[in-house]
Amino acid sequence: MNRKALVLFSGGQDSTVCLAWALQHFEHVETIGFDYGQRHRVELDCRQRIVDGIKAAFPQWAHKLGEDRVIDLGWLGQISDCALTEEREIELMENGLPNTFVPGRNLVFFMISSAVAYRRGLSTLVGGMCQTDYSGYPDCREDALKALQVATNIGMASNFRFELPLMWIDKSETFKLAEQLGGEPLLDIVNKLTHTCYFGDHTTVNDWGYGCGKCPACELRKAGWEKFKANA
Ligand code: ZN
Repeated sequence: MNRKALVLFSGGQDSTVCLAWALQHFEHVETIGFDYGQRHRVELDCRQRIVDGIKAAFPQWAHKLGEDRVIDLGWLGQISDCALTEEREIELMENGLPNTFVPGRNLVFFMISSAVAYRRGLSTLVGGMCQTDYSGYPDCREDALKALQVATNIGMASNFRFELPLMWIDKSETFKLAEQLGGEPLLDIVNKLTHTCYFGDHTTVNDWGYGCGKCPACELRKAGWEKFKANA
């Protein structure tokens, strides 16, 4: 195990906190993002601004930041047919999952990240998946991702560790973790530079960041911020 990590970095709140967490815990940190035709593609435009913001506010972390890459997964949008990649209403499907579920998305993300980490000699992969106050996506569950870790290590004759720092905390605790890692400057970056809204609304400004305030992603983030502030 080396102290080198690859962070699955979308440009959202969770992956930004994971990036800060990795910068705190590892000596060298690279980042990877995915373009799968998401309606909230604006999150990808946020990535560089977040990295620049972190470099400016945290000089002690700046030298640890290594390569960044965005992988084109247009085919995932083509085959998934869901409300995250198609213009349609968000609703529950017959199986009880919201139709924002992109089947296999996180599994694909981790598989591709593992291949990149293999080539780059990075021993740890960091993802912001969470099964505490999530939308029920089965590929956010720790068991799914840990099973994939095992399969990946067997299939690549590797020794990767999948770190999931947000797995057992809720959104308010994610804000709390940001505060612990980087105080007000990091909370500022989270609230002013990241993007979460499923509908790609990056013009409406709220205390808790940009977003429509109505989609499930905004509702989670807003409720998390309000609980965080109430407990502060
Ligand atoms: Zn929204």
